Amino acid sequence: MTDFAATRRAFHLPQGIAYLDGNSLGPMPVAARDRVARMMAEEWSEMLIGGWNKAGWYVQPRTVGDRIARLIGAGPEQVVMGDTLSIKVFQAVSAALRLRPGRRVILSDSGNFPSDLYVADGLARAVGAELRVVAPDDVASAITDNLAVLMLTEVDYRTGRRHDMAALTARAHEVGALTVWDLAHSAGALDVDLLGADADFAVGCTYKYLNGGPGAPAFIWIHPRHADAAQPILQGWMGHDAPFAFDLDYRPAAGIERMRVGTPPVIALAALDAALDVWDGVSLSDLRARSVQLTEAFIAGTGAACPDVALNSPRDPALRGSQVSLRHPQAYAVMQALIAAGVIGDFRAPDVLRFGFAPLFNDLDDVERAVETLARVLRDGSWNDEAFHRMSAVT
Ligand SMILES: *Cc1c(COP(=O)(O)O)cnc(C)c1O
Repeated sequence: MTDFAATRRAFHLPQGIAYLDGNSLGPMPVAARDRVARMMAEEWSEMLIGGWNKAGWYVQPRTVGDRIARLIGAGPEQVVMGDTLSIKVFQAVSAALRLRPGRRVILSDSGNFPSDLYVADGLARAVGAELRVVAPDDVASAITDNLAVLMLTEVDYRTGRRHDMAALTARAHEVGALTVWDLAHSAGALDVDLLGADADFAVGCTYKYLNGGPGAPAFIWIHPRHADAAQPILQGWMGHDAPFAFDLDYRPAAGIERMRVGTPPVIALAALDAALDVWDGVSLSDLRARSVQLTEAFIAGTGAACPDVALNSPRDPALRGSQVSLRHPQAYAVMQALIAAGVIGDFRAPDVLRFGFAPLFNDLDDVERAVETLARVLRDGSWNDEAFHRMSAVT
């Protein structure tokens, strides 16, 4: 059995708060602070340029990728780190599109994160393809013969609704299309099984449930059957077969390494690598069971104590990721009042209160505290204070 009391202790959680926003920015693992300090003191400062070889900075995008592979049901040498998720979405969709010459349609849904849709739209315009966006429930029926790429985020960032990755991938394969799965709200939250679902491409970020820190690099995975055929569009020197030959012609590296672009973010990778230590000994089926326990308790608790909010997430845990969304007409002010009372979730326009339940550090005490505080804030109307209506740049 996974020791979730021990994983919780691995994080610095400020006193007096219940942190239910690990789906937006994971908290700091204590080991990450120490690891970055050590990286500065022993690697950058003393080794200087030698750190690329001596400290393994050059191979880190792959060694860290191998550690993430276990958490997403992938194999070794199939995942590489770098850039931001938006860039990795571009790389995956453009490479998938190129593997389906003669087809022009990219299909996604309106529950996808805007950046994924913006990137796909920009790509489609540049190469003369078409981005089709349908409602989440209509995705299966919109998979038609001319489809090139199905691009979906497994768990909806706003509602927590979870797509059936295996079923939709099978449906896409029936018509000869490829799939790109965004695991931003899945990796570190669910028992993801990319090889089991027979997916083609996957991408994700590491600053949410993987706790790599603000701006931590993204990952990309390609099924081994495509890895040597996928042609990168962002042909960076670090994805070249021989970067230090400085050839004028691009020749992709073997396998997933070709999805590297430029110089990796070494300091951020050090923090992420330490954050991944927390996952040693965590079973993904235990993770999923705990996630369901926490979200079910929160839904039951708010359902009984908070009549003014409406559940905006699927009631069936099988159809849900590791977050719960509630709707309230004054959601922004209600969330500000909650944050002031030490319960940290977030707001998503126009009327959504979002609560992430990260099994590594959240427990039933957090759930109880969140339910009680929300019930009180709604009952006493304290959210109506003028200060709680002022908007910040980041919500
Ligand atoms: C968080 C998130 C992003 C953010 O992309 P960045 O490039 O890391 O800013 C993109 N897509 C999805 C689905 C997300 O949840």
